[in-house]
Formats: sequence, C-alpha cells, structure tokens
Amino acid sequence: MFTGFIREIDSVGRIVVPMQLRKELGLTATGSKVEMFSDGKQIICRKAVADCAFCKSEDDLVEFEGKFICKACIEKLRASAE
Ligand SMILES: [Zn+2]
Repeated sequence: MFTGFIREIDSVGRIVVPMQLRKELGLTATGSKVEMFSDGKQIICRKAVADCAFCKSEDDLVEFEGKFICKACIEKLRASAE
C-alpha cells in the first residue's frame, strides 16, 4: 500500500520532487538543496540546512573552509585561544 507520492526514477537516477512538497519546505528556488541518505530500508530526503559544526545551531553562521561555524562558537574559540 502506498501512502505518499509515487515517482519514477529515470534512466540516470533522477526523480521529480512534487511541487506541493517543494512549496511546503520552501524548496522552490532553482539550486535549493536537499540532503539524502538511507537507513538501509528507505531513502530519506530532507531540506538541507546548514548548521554549526560544533553546536548544530542554524543561526549566525560563517562558512570557513567548507564548514559552518556559528558566531557564538567563534567567540568561544577566540576566548579559548587567548
Ligand atoms: Zn556553534
């Protein structure tokens, strides 16, 4: 029994995310990112949200060498280095 949207995977592995779901999650802009992973039984696809590498906060992020760090953690790092 199916309880959600059914989509076909094309020859190169792509699927189309239904517009209703994209609108619900704010993923309508070209280039919006999703994160996909598997738990061994299902593929989980969720809105990719950047978070701090240390505390997981999603606020006041600064990108540094491919990772995000929040300003609060930057201040803590700065204080610990003094
Ligand atoms: Zn942080």
